Amino acid sequence: MSAIYRLPRSILDQTFAHFRSCGRGRRECQVLWISPWDAPHTISKAVHPEHEAHCGSFVLDDRWLNDFWFRVAEENLGVRIQVHTHPSEAFHSATDDAFPIVHTIGFLSLVIPNFALGPIGFEDAFLTEIQEDGRWSEVPIAERLVLT
Ligand SMILES: [Zn+2]
Repeated sequence: MSAIYRLPRSILDQTFAHFRSCGRGRRECQVLWISPWDAPHTISKAVHPEHEAHCGSFVLDDRWLNDFWFRVAEENLGVRIQVHTHPSEAFHSATDDAFPIVHTIGFLSLVIPNFALGPIGFEDAFLTEIQEDGRWSEVPIAERLVLT
């Protein structure tokens, strides 16, 4: 049930690059980590959705999201982990709880602190997983993500 995902370092680098160029140290940003259903536990792509963001709020573009779900289905891909930035400390907020892009057991949400301006990696990051009862619960990053 608890999958361990293999994450290529290049995808983590791209993710931080999106956060920094889009968020510019001022706004929250989100990236989705996806993988093919043939090899679901190896993350193959970081997708930066079209979104609006202000300090402390975040809204995905509806039309972009529709197209995205269509492409994902057509290419036999799945969203495994949503990653987003927070202004200072990483934690999981009420807004994060209310709007996961995927709502299935085992779906992961990773929060990167300080608008991802710190070192590229999982230092002070926060990982949560959707439990069987539909709630989020913190899980140790090392148990679920391996950098390759
Ligand atoms: Zn962004």
